[in-house]
Amino acid sequence: MTQYNPKSLKAEEFINHEEILATLRYAEENKNNVELIDSLLEKARPKKTAEGVHCEGLTHREASVLLACEIPEKNEEIFRLAEEIKMAFYGNRIVMFAPLYLSNYCVNGCVYCPYHAKNKTIPRKKLTQEEVKAEVIALQDMGHKRLAIEAGEDPVNNPIEYILDCIKTIYSVHHKNGDIRRVNVNIAATTVENYRKLKDAGIGTYILFQETYHKESYETLHPTGPKHDYCYHTEAMDRAMEGGIDDVGLGVLFGLELYRYEFAGLLMHAEHLEAVHGVGPHTISVPRIKKADDIDPSVFDNGISDEIFTKLIACIRVAVPYTGMIISTRESEEVRRRALQVGISQISGASRTSVGGYTEEERPTDTEQFDVSDQRTLDEVVRWLMEMGFIPSFCTACYREGRTGDRFMSLCKSGQILNCCHPNALMTLSEFLEDYASEETKKVGYRMIDEELRKIPKEKVRSIAEQNIFDIKNSNRRDFRF
Ligand code: SAM
Repeated sequence: MTQYNPKSLKAEEFINHEEILATLRYAEENKNNVELIDSLLEKARPKKTAEGVHCEGLTHREASVLLACEIPEKNEEIFRLAEEIKMAFYGNRIVMFAPLYLSNYCVNGCVYCPYHAKNKTIPRKKLTQEEVKAEVIALQDMGHKRLAIEAGEDPVNNPIEYILDCIKTIYSVHHKNGDIRRVNVNIAATTVENYRKLKDAGIGTYILFQETYHKESYETLHPTGPKHDYCYHTEAMDRAMEGGIDDVGLGVLFGLELYRYEFAGLLMHAEHLEAVHGVGPHTISVPRIKKADDIDPSVFDNGISDEIFTKLIACIRVAVPYTGMIISTRESEEVRRRALQVGISQISGASRTSVGGYTEEERPTDTEQFDVSDQRTLDEVVRWLMEMGFIPSFCTACYREGRTGDRFMSLCKSGQILNCCHPNALMTLSEFLEDYASEETKKVGYRMIDEELRKIPKEKVRSIAEQNIFDIKNSNRRDFRF
């Protein structure tokens, strides 16, 4: 039996199977323990301090009790608390991004992914630098400023040099008033040396989904290829941090294993990063398995209902209050709407999950990684967000101003967000409205901007933001930021 140790650098010690089983037993025993649940809700509530608002979060054991709770009134309280925490740190801003698929060549055998090496029906494609450029122009023409690049694992077809070339190309394209200001990277686990190269190439977040924290299931679900190695995969974030990347994004592919097991594992991973590196994950993603080329999601028997999915998001929000949360177009408009209320702070829009998909008129499905549920245009998603009272933000200021890792977290904790992130969101929204929006979206957008500008507490900041928005409207000056 391995001993649980959040400070260990060994996967099986910081994601400890016995500790997860003990957590699940503890949660089951206490799921109707009103006194304990009340004390946890109280502990997690935002508290005013001299520096701003502070939230303590919950441990994996504590949060697992809330996730298991079956008392309807308490569940309502959990949802309300999640909304309150979200408002305290992320306000009504929602950061926008799009995935960019570079290559679907892959040597792994992941049984849930259509890019697995044995799939002979899916056409294999890898973008040339000219094609990357064309995709980026198409993305800029929609209004995107932030991308997450995606690729299969293939040391021959997609070596690190290829990924680095693509990043360079992406940052070099400036079409009309467009540019990509932050490239996040979702590629397979790699070496410290390669993470350092990615850092030097100016990436934002390094994202790697754990898929499942259950070692035995992990090995069955990844029968062949380098991804089979559970420890190498699970320890990747430590190597990324050693390589200098301090914004890392975690995620689980829900549906593969029992969600309560994954939830405990995910929080243990966050606790581990905090314990070892002094900073937790920058983001957590919550993908669910979707239909794809030769993949039928119904063969995985751990699929979760929309209701449980929403609760899961709320419980993550309560447990790790400062971590950004991402939802993709795998989910429908309705699921995304609910998820936004209870915790999500970042969403993709108008995504194409096929290699070269953005330059096609119609959404191509032949090389798609998964079926897209939310198929609206970016303009439609932006308007929809605003109609619900959310501010779509194209801001990329933090990492460009060096506010990464613990510096981002301290901004989050300082209560200065209304003087910083809020005006940045409004200025980048104004850029979108001027350069890419339909007339109707523009109308809704400027009404929102006028109202939201009034919420900036510092008069000086407010007047600078107003002046910048005036300049965006009346000139080609862009990319203002605090
Ligand atoms: N190949 C990289 C790796 O090994 O981590 C990451 C890129 S992959 C394009 C991005 C993620 O898509 C995977 O980590 C997995 O969680 C998710 N994914 C794979 N197949 C999926 C499916 N059928 N439905 C939904 N998401 C899927």
